[in-house]
Amino acid sequence: MSRDVPTLVEGARNGRVRDIARLISLIEDGSPEVPALMRALAPTSGRASIIGITGSPGVGKSTTTAALITAMRARGQRVVVLAVDPSSPFSGGALLGDRIRMQQHATDEGVFIRSMASRGHLGGLSATTPQALRVLDAAGCDVVLIETVGVGQSEIEVAAAADTTLVLLAPGMGDSIQAAKAGILEIGDVFVVNKADRDGADSTVRELRNMIALGENPERGWKPPVVKTVASTGEGVDRLVTAIDEHRSWLQASGELEVRRVRRARDEVEALAVAMLRRRLAAGEGSERLSDAAAEVAAGRLDPHTAAARLVEGA
Ligand code: GDP
Repeated sequence: MSRDVPTLVEGARNGRVRDIARLISLIEDGSPEVPALMRALAPTSGRASIIGITGSPGVGKSTTTAALITAMRARGQRVVVLAVDPSSPFSGGALLGDRIRMQQHATDEGVFIRSMASRGHLGGLSATTPQALRVLDAAGCDVVLIETVGVGQSEIEVAAAADTTLVLLAPGMGDSIQAAKAGILEIGDVFVVNKADRDGADSTVRELRNMIALGENPERGWKPPVVKTVASTGEGVDRLVTAIDEHRSWLQASGELEVRRVRRARDEVEALAVAMLRRRLAAGEGSERLSDAAAEVAAGRLDPHTAAARLVEGA
């Protein structure tokens, strides 16, 4: 480990934003120092509350995020926003810092806003996000809002990384129907019908409640509430915060928080193991063995399953 990393960890533990940012960059860049960094951070407290925010583009995610920051700052909580865009090669603070709706928080020391790219990195989003979360946890952050910028698979991945997942919809976007198709109903812990100042909000709420009731699993023990908001004016945001708090209390009381954490750790370890294997097969002796196996399979002397099994065992 370079002398830098312990200094950065110490700085992050003292809440130094620059050091936190540099540690997250190491993770994003897939630095060889990441394993040592993770060892230095363990054991983590797991104190931070991780809230995922998903929904189609334009539904009001960043407006809602800004409104949630305001509400949580009013309670004295230290808040982080991680904007995750798996399709983007850009990372760092600039991209999101430029976003106008966040600017009111740009000079607040209790708010740290950061965009994260994970394309092509070791283990992808499922490995980089939990590692970044560990840094933020060590830095004493109370709330981490993970906002997904991309669509599709990234929403599922964000939900997997969060304790509480908010699914945002807006009236008249045909969203609730799409949501059911995309399996979004399963990942939502709290549903938000934003843009409630628009026509059709009540019918969207009704439609969602019906769908939730249809898919209800009594064993799950948590019935996802549907909250109406006008994020641009702050209307309904207090109810949203209450719903998030209630979900957190339920997670703790039911033991589900622990279940989710173990599931996340499992995903993380699996993603890292797969990435390590891929890396070994791409370089040096591993690459040669892969080429030899490929030649054998192409020539019909070896079947691909046996070849793959040998590679995994010998990796
Ligand atoms: P995102 O793409 O999901 O992050 O959506 P944004 O937060 O960027 O919001 C998209 C647009 O909707 C912006 O012009 C917002 O000002 C507007 N918007 C957000 N919330 C509301 C709302 O509750 N009511 C109305 N009428 N507009 C809103």
